[in-house]
Amino acid sequence: MTDERTYRMLFLGPPGSGKGTYAERLAKKYGIPHIATGDILRELVYSGSRLGNKIKTYLDKGELVPDEMMVCILDSRFMRKDTRKGWILDGFPRTLPQAKILDEIVDSHGWDFDYIFYVWASNEEIIERTVNRVQCEKCGAVYNLLNNPPAVSGVCDKCGGRVYRRDDDTEDMIQRRFDVYEEKTRPVIEYYSKHPHFFKIYTGGPMNLAEKEILSIIGESVGDV
Ligand code: ADP
Ligand code: ZN
Repeated sequence: MTDERTYRMLFLGPPGSGKGTYAERLAKKYGIPHIATGDILRELVYSGSRLGNKIKTYLDKGELVPDEMMVCILDSRFMRKDTRKGWILDGFPRTLPQAKILDEIVDSHGWDFDYIFYVWASNEEIIERTVNRVQCEKCGAVYNLLNNPPAVSGVCDKCGGRVYRRDDDTEDMIQRRFDVYEEKTRPVIEYYSKHPHFFKIYTGGPMNLAEKEILSIIGESVGDV
């Protein structure tokens, strides 16, 4: 790994497909920020600000936050210095207009996408995984109560923060998010599928398998994560 190498990556895929888990691990490995728009939004809601309250009305319905709001949030996040060597975007873009604006933003910084990962699993696999998913309130680490629970129930292994279940991780809400995904986000996958750095990864099997595949695409020796 040379210093000049950049890691600008997109993680696309349906809700609960594992984007966040892989993105988080890779970000740590390469020392680059994991920019998860869902986490940024939940932090804003948690802050109780006016913007946060407005955002909450969308999250509570499983709907998308309007594009203009999302673009502002992302634009300002990219201005931070830690994005120079690379970044992993998780949860953005989710609509075609977001994708087109993202392309403009990326161009304006003189960047390109080094890897675009489309991660997918079947709806049944995702539902089972998502209803068992819990997350750290403080650092965003994601756990699964079935196969990857925190060592102490309710407490994050990494930072000691409180581990909780997201309000939108019920079966009904996941179904609603799938519908939104099919309508709004599916065209984004088609849009990027023509990019020369587009890769499709199946994440329904064991986690380390998908991760090895991702790492071998990035060209790293496997087994050292
Ligand atoms: P998941 O991928 O499991 O659905 P996320 O944490 O990425 O979870 O997103 C949770 C919610 O945050 C979404 O259902 C949506 O309401 C909102 N959200 C996240 N990213 C975006 C985005 N790029 N545009 C609009 N809304 C978003
Ligand atoms: Zn934590």
